Amino acid sequence: MPGGPLAGGNADSRKDLMGLTRAELTTEMEQIGEKRFRADQIFNWIYFRGVTSFENMTDISKGMRAKLDETYRIGRPEIVTAQVSRDGTRKWLLRLADGNEVETVFIPEPGRGTLCISSQVGCTLTCSFCHTGTQAWVRNLTAGEIAGQVMMARDELGEWPTPSDDRQITNIVLMGMGEPLFNYDNVKAAVDLCKDEKGLNFSRRRITLSTSGIVPEIRRAGAEMQVMLAISLHAVRDDLRDILVPINKRWPIKELLAACRDYPSLSNARRITFEYVMLQDINDSDADARELLRVLEGIPSKINLIPFNPWPGSNYGTSDPDRVQRFGEIIRNAGIMATIRRPRGSDIAAACGQLKSESERTPAWKRRGEEHPRA
Ligand code: SAH
Ligand code: SF4
Repeated sequence: MPGGPLAGGNADSRKDLMGLTRAELTTEMEQIGEKRFRADQIFNWIYFRGVTSFENMTDISKGMRAKLDETYRIGRPEIVTAQVSRDGTRKWLLRLADGNEVETVFIPEPGRGTLCISSQVGCTLTCSFCHTGTQAWVRNLTAGEIAGQVMMARDELGEWPTPSDDRQITNIVLMGMGEPLFNYDNVKAAVDLCKDEKGLNFSRRRITLSTSGIVPEIRRAGAEMQVMLAISLHAVRDDLRDILVPINKRWPIKELLAACRDYPSLSNARRITFEYVMLQDINDSDADARELLRVLEGIPSKINLIPFNPWPGSNYGTSDPDRVQRFGEIIRNAGIMATIRRPRGSDIAAACGQLKSESERTPAWKRRGEEHPRA
């Protein structure tokens, strides 16, 4: 590749318009003496048509296109590898402009297709069953890098301009690497871009944010983002959840569930998903299932049982399929919806909790561009 392995976007000093919201793009255009309609035109080309070069913006004069091209670019994360699983799941390893890497996964199913996107490089949290949790946190993704994953996937699936129906990507889940609510502002800006009706045009009901339970930000997200919520619950007793999801020590189950109860516009049609990883002999007994029903009483919920996906060096076992079935039955018998997540893309390590980029071979301080901590 010209300019060496990390060239990516580094060699290009033009400002990247990717990730600017409609309001930010308007301000940007004002700064170069352009009016609002120019921003609207460009917004449409970038987020509705998926264009990455000003040259293709055919309703803008040639002179103006050249001027824009001198000052700006429209970036995409660089695709390092693109893998397709036997079951059709796709996984992309993406390299960002500074050389850091993240993963994005597309899961096609009959009648729907879910894109799982990352919000951070690594994660500050250390959930004991999660592979990403063993990777040091490096940095937050920018809004452009988060929305850029959706745009990259649309490029790859040939899904421009934004289709009004018959889409391949019908749903977006913030369930990749990182804790989205620890990168609130950028996630909010990216969600706004995904929701823009004249751009990527995803309904807020088709965007799900998964969190380990950052209580104040759950409340904020309810007020400001109104996306669907998934909570990584995984345990119904604080002593166990303290180990599995250590942020529980800061916001224990009771506080977490209080924030869930208060989440706006919950109804039978708009339920909170509770994710529950099934760990053999740890949290998978009949008593656990009954306790789960008890603690969720009164919250419009659905439960997503996730058979634990092992990774090299993990210390947990996956519950037997019979155990998972039985656990699900207890929940369904009480009238609560319970789905069992089939592991997808396991042959390409694309399943939940398996995401961990190759860039972790480089120490975190180096990836942050810092001096050696002991230097
Ligand atoms: N940080 C956020 C979102 C990313 S994790 C969160 O924790 O919710 C996405 C989901 O994958 C979470 O429910 C997480 O608990 C689950 N997960 C992590 N590691 C897993 C593993 N090894 N097997 C199965 N699910 C896992
Ligand atoms: Fe981070 Fe979520 Fe993994 Fe926990 S489960 S370490 S919050 S990515």
